[in-house]
Amino acid sequence: MRPNGEPASIAELDRQTGSKGDVTVPERMLKFVHLPQRMPEKRDVATRRVDFDEIYRRFSADEAAKQSSRCSQCGVPFCSIHCPLNNNIPDWLKLTAEGRLEEAYEASSATNNFPEICGRICPQDRLCEGNCVIEKGYEAVTIGAVERYVTDTAFERGWVRPIRPRRELGLSIGIIGAGPGGLAAAEELRRRGYEVHVYDRYDRVGGLMIYGIPGFKLEKDVVLRRHALCEQSGIQFHLGVSVGADLPLAALRERHAAVLIATGVYKPREIGGPGAGLAGIVPALDFLTAANRKGLGDEVPAFDDGTLDASGRDVVVIGGGDTAMDCVRTAVRQGAASVKCLYRRDRANMPGSMREVKNAEEEGVEFIWLAAPEAFLGEDGVRGVRAQRMRLGLPDATGRQTVEPIQGSHFTLPASLVIKALGFDPEDLPHAFGEPGLEVTRHGTLKINHRSFMTSLPGVFAAGDIVRGASLVVWAIRDGRDAAAQMHEYIQKGHRLAEAAD
Ligand code: FAD
Ligand code: SF4
Ligand code: SF4
Repeated sequence: MRPNGEPASIAELDRQTGSKGDVTVPERMLKFVHLPQRMPEKRDVATRRVDFDEIYRRFSADEAAKQSSRCSQCGVPFCSIHCPLNNNIPDWLKLTAEGRLEEAYEASSATNNFPEICGRICPQDRLCEGNCVIEKGYEAVTIGAVERYVTDTAFERGWVRPIRPRRELGLSIGIIGAGPGGLAAAEELRRRGYEVHVYDRYDRVGGLMIYGIPGFKLEKDVVLRRHALCEQSGIQFHLGVSVGADLPLAALRERHAAVLIATGVYKPREIGGPGAGLAGIVPALDFLTAANRKGLGDEVPAFDDGTLDASGRDVVVIGGGDTAMDCVRTAVRQGAASVKCLYRRDRANMPGSMREVKNAEEEGVEFIWLAAPEAFLGEDGVRGVRAQRMRLGLPDATGRQTVEPIQGSHFTLPASLVIKALGFDPEDLPHAFGEPGLEVTRHGTLKINHRSFMTSLPGVFAAGDIVRGASLVVWAIRDGRDAAAQMHEYIQKGHRLAEAAD
């Protein structure tokens, strides 16, 4: 028994509740009534503020089993329904509670290519855990932390093996983009026996997982480990190749039986107003990519000359999404003199995960809610941001409350580095790829048939952010898996037709 009265292990809990060796599901599970929710321990603020290591420690075997045993094994599991991958969550929670970790890993990896990544960075409070039915009054099962624990354990124990297709089909696929969407599709198509070629303009694999998302949320070794596994599975990477600029899309269409576009969205939304062009006002992804590259040991001139280094500076980040949260917390770790986040709506209406806001506040970030920049002050570089207070108005057509400025409510914040984190739009792909026939939506994202995942170009498919607009890793994985299934169907159908015509 622990000093706080909690049982120290499942066995002890079983003794308390009268379970014998022949444990039935309800006896093993449903422990949420007695066992409180425990998240994995968070590293203390003083230590985590000065490095880029993940902030959550891993569960011990006992903690993972106990937290899994809180699940009530719902007949209709809302957690699974609200997981974009429809993971069989109750199944792997039960297996974890029973200590059957290899089977838990098999169950969780059957529907998710990168469970160790989703376990770390999915906004669980909005997805699986936010919809766990024991949330009200008892707090959700810690699904993400268990998923991470199970997969990390599987890697350590050698249960995660490279893909070995049953037979080689002698057909090749081209995938543009080595982010989660492209990689999930690559794995699924390799599993079916295709020769898979992934082209990426970056020098490393992972897309935003390697150069966007900071190490304190997702350590880079976790991404590099997946890259190594993909290579061991026979997936071939062509890095430093920008499709469009270095290699026409037409060449890929000739070379491969089908092509997948999974290029993400990278064009930063701009901010206007007087002084918006001053030195020291930088796009969020430039700032984060420089920090990530530095952490990976690269030479980064724009960081080394101070342009993208927050150390010693008064930093103002503009925006309220995940990217803004990553920027403020990166600036803290670089030793900024002060870090403020300026957001035009209030805490309840911000798009970023509440967990991340809390982490940022603990680390010393000051949030200025209901405020928007109006002008940037300075001559040879930014020295301050003039902002205006806002108030929430009536909901718009989407149901989201509009904002309106409060007249005469200006104030000025000192700032020597301003980071713009206002979201991303797609690049002009038809132009970049020299394919005017590649149709886009009015938002610039690629138009696809949502059943077949095919674009307006025959044999060219698309998945991930370039179709959805800026979204989540878990959705990119889902799209990559679905697109892979459709590409396989398309190729096989073509073969069947060719055979019938012979
Ligand atoms: P990407 O990951 O963007 O990958 C696209 C790849 O295509 C890149 O490697 C790029 O180099 C390559 N490419 C682009 N154009 C070309 C070309 N012409 N030729 C060759 N290669 C090309 N999601 C979460 O779930 N949790 C989070 O905590 C989270 N945090 C985020 C933090 C930041 C700062 C950002 C920017 C995003 C975050 N996201 C998060 C969102 C998530 O990273 C994306 O939704 C996801 O990575 C999209 O996957 P993707 O495969 O569609 O594209
Ligand atoms: Fe939850 Fe994401 Fe895992 Fe689904 S993939 S169970 S949403 S953490
Ligand atoms: Fe278990 Fe919660 Fe999912 Fe129900 S909703 S199966 S209690 S994790």
